[in-house]
Amino acid sequence: MTEPTLSPPPARDLCGTMLVHRRLLNESMSYRSQRAVIENRALQYEIGRLSSARRGPVTIPVVVHVVANRDHPEQNIDEEQIHSQFTVLNQDFRAANPDVSKVPDVWKHLVADTGVEFRLATRDPNGEPTDGIVRVVTDRSGFDHRDGVKSSRTGGSDPWPSDRYLNMWVCQLTGSLLGYAAFPGQPPHLDGVVIGHSFFGTTGTAAAPGNPFNGGRTTTHEIGHWLNLFHIWGDDDGACSSDDKVADTPNQADANTGMPTFPHVTCDNGPNGDMFMNYMDYTDDAGMYMFTKGQLARINACLEGPRASFLAARPIPEAARTDTARRGGGRDSVPDGEVERLLHDSERLTTEVLNDIRAALDTVTGHSRG
Ligand SMILES: [Zn+2]
Repeated sequence: MTEPTLSPPPARDLCGTMLVHRRLLNESMSYRSQRAVIENRALQYEIGRLSSARRGPVTIPVVVHVVANRDHPEQNIDEEQIHSQFTVLNQDFRAANPDVSKVPDVWKHLVADTGVEFRLATRDPNGEPTDGIVRVVTDRSGFDHRDGVKSSRTGGSDPWPSDRYLNMWVCQLTGSLLGYAAFPGQPPHLDGVVIGHSFFGTTGTAAAPGNPFNGGRTTTHEIGHWLNLFHIWGDDDGACSSDDKVADTPNQADANTGMPTFPHVTCDNGPNGDMFMNYMDYTDDAGMYMFTKGQLARINACLEGPRASFLAARPIPEAARTDTARRGGGRDSVPDGEVERLLHDSERLTTEVLNDIRAALDTVTGHSRG
């Protein structure tokens, strides 16, 4: 019997975010319901019914947990390497990266300055001065996407409060994993991003010869997930049936790797093809250099929703309804069919959550739906 060969083999598991996401969707009703609320909110921003009230950049305080094996001192990366990562982040998220000029002309108008900046924390959770770096020596030879690095009980480092700090764990990762992130909605003790030390920043262990992930973009990508961005190809293994819930990024079949050549057409998305230079694809670090305005709408929905605590120092009013939304419109930037499809997704999620709640109530009251 011949196996069907409809889709190419999956890309290496460079990013473990969707593995974690799917596991939690299966295991946790609370996560599923939180995700439904978060996605409903993102949808309102995406279709223009809500717009961001955010003015000016927001700065996210970060704690970097460097978890290093005692026999491998190179894993205990130095301050220069850590600071080099922040240089990259504060360029990439402000569209101030030198290579943004490489964005093809057809997409230059979509490039977004997200207005998000990052700095190492200067106060620890007790209010004491800190350099924002926690160093832990471990006996573990490496960590995977199952979150062992996030707890001292499993050889890792305990998080700081996730409503006040973005936790970044830097460690030896196993297999082909470069990093993974928690989408908003995950439990606080698991919230943050995990990055392999040799893919963090641009110097030190990241500067090893031949490393295509030496530009600090793994962390840019993972923080994209932390701010609720999906992979640009929609994680449908080449089926073209699912996308990233962002209207201004073309639907694309599967992850791009290496350094693709423009245009790369899939899913009938010609003539311009895949937006493989987007941070949420899987190309080499030198091949990714943009977020879009549609992605920024999701980031804003996240920052004014599940991650609003980071704006707390500068209170903002409830997100304003746009003029077009008040007129019953708001579809100007969304192609035909997109609104219906997005609303369908939202309805489906809501139905699933309601079914879960009914099932839970049946359990509690001893009823069965027979
Ligand atoms: Zn990813």
